[in-house]
Amino acid sequence: MSGGASAKTYSGGCHCGKVRFQATAPLEFIDECNCSICTKKGFLHLIVPRDRFELLAGRDDLTTYRFNTGVAQHTFCRHCGIYSFYVPRSDPNKVSVNVRCLDGVDCRQITPRPFDGRHWEQAMDDRARSTTG
Ligand SMILES: [Zn+2]
Repeated sequence: MSGGASAKTYSGGCHCGKVRFQATAPLEFIDECNCSICTKKGFLHLIVPRDRFELLAGRDDLTTYRFNTGVAQHTFCRHCGIYSFYVPRSDPNKVSVNVRCLDGVDCRQITPRPFDGRHWEQAMDDRARSTTG
């Protein structure tokens, strides 16, 4: 815990406003993934522990899309279709929040880290090595 950006509580949600959540994390490590679904969603990942994420509204308005291994739960609002957060395959015990869906965050000021989700296994290996080294 040295030198990083400090954690802040952000609120966010989908476009129509039925899905609302709060997440507490530093806006520090934002991942942009090139896998088949993230590319199309335009998702900017901020991964937060489950106890730092609270769904405030919209539990019944969420629908889940699964594919491939089925581990990731791609939740989206069934009214407006926006993916504001989901449970990622890389961290099934965490929640990946879409930085684009956070209130008051200007995505032009964010420089995401590239994540090679098209070669997922290799990318996870590389990341494990770089964060433990
Ligand atoms: Zn919505």
